[in-house]
Amino acid sequence: MVYPGGVTALAGVSLHVMAGELVAIVGPSGSGKSTLLNIIGTLDRPTSGTVLISGQDVAKLSDRRLSRLRAREIGFVFQQFHLTDGLSAAENVATGLLYAGVPRKQRKQLALQALARVGLTHRAWHRPQQLSGGERQRVAIARALVNRPSLVLADEPTGALDTATGQAVLTLLRRLNADGTTIALITHDRDIAASLPRQIEIRDGRLVRDSLGAGN
Ligand code: ADP
Repeated sequence: MVYPGGVTALAGVSLHVMAGELVAIVGPSGSGKSTLLNIIGTLDRPTSGTVLISGQDVAKLSDRRLSRLRAREIGFVFQQFHLTDGLSAAENVATGLLYAGVPRKQRKQLALQALARVGLTHRAWHRPQQLSGGERQRVAIARALVNRPSLVLADEPTGALDTATGQAVLTLLRRLNADGTTIALITHDRDIAASLPRQIEIRDGRLVRDSLGAGN
């Protein structure tokens, strides 16, 4: 991936994530982790190379079909939560369904189910300002999950949380993975990466280690 201006942020990266995996993408700041996540998540198109999601080459899809695939198949979680202040937790979660063609009546019900999965039923009608950092991230995770995506991409999901709260969020992600959600999680924290089943290490835009070994 070469950004306008000439920065080569990723080169020669080949990565295959299988359904049901929980993968850590680890590396220092500036190594290319977010670039990789944005390419996997189809938010950015690579300068060269191919991205296959469920066997489908995303470069061959029209913008409209690509948006639909993204809305249905991929959930995003960010370090800074990215919740909308004026909306309740349930309304924030329901925004995850806006582009997936889910009728309005069903959105509320699905949002409440997703909040139940992250243990926040009792906070459904609170606004983000009334929630702790850990609760906000759980709302963001519920939003990522509400459409039952095949893949959840989490960019430093514990980066804005204290250690104990971060551990609780990781425990939640592990549980969701055990229930069948494929998760790729970016972290610069080696301890967090080491606690996950598979680690992909990125350095200077190159994949320098895959704990599964070559060929995967
Ligand atoms: P990480 O997530 O590991 O911190 P990034 O993927 O954000 O790394 O960045 C990798 C490299 O690409 C860095 O040198 C960064 O400055 C550069 N970069 C990231 N985004 C852009 C962009 N939109 N335009 C130009 N350069 C970028």
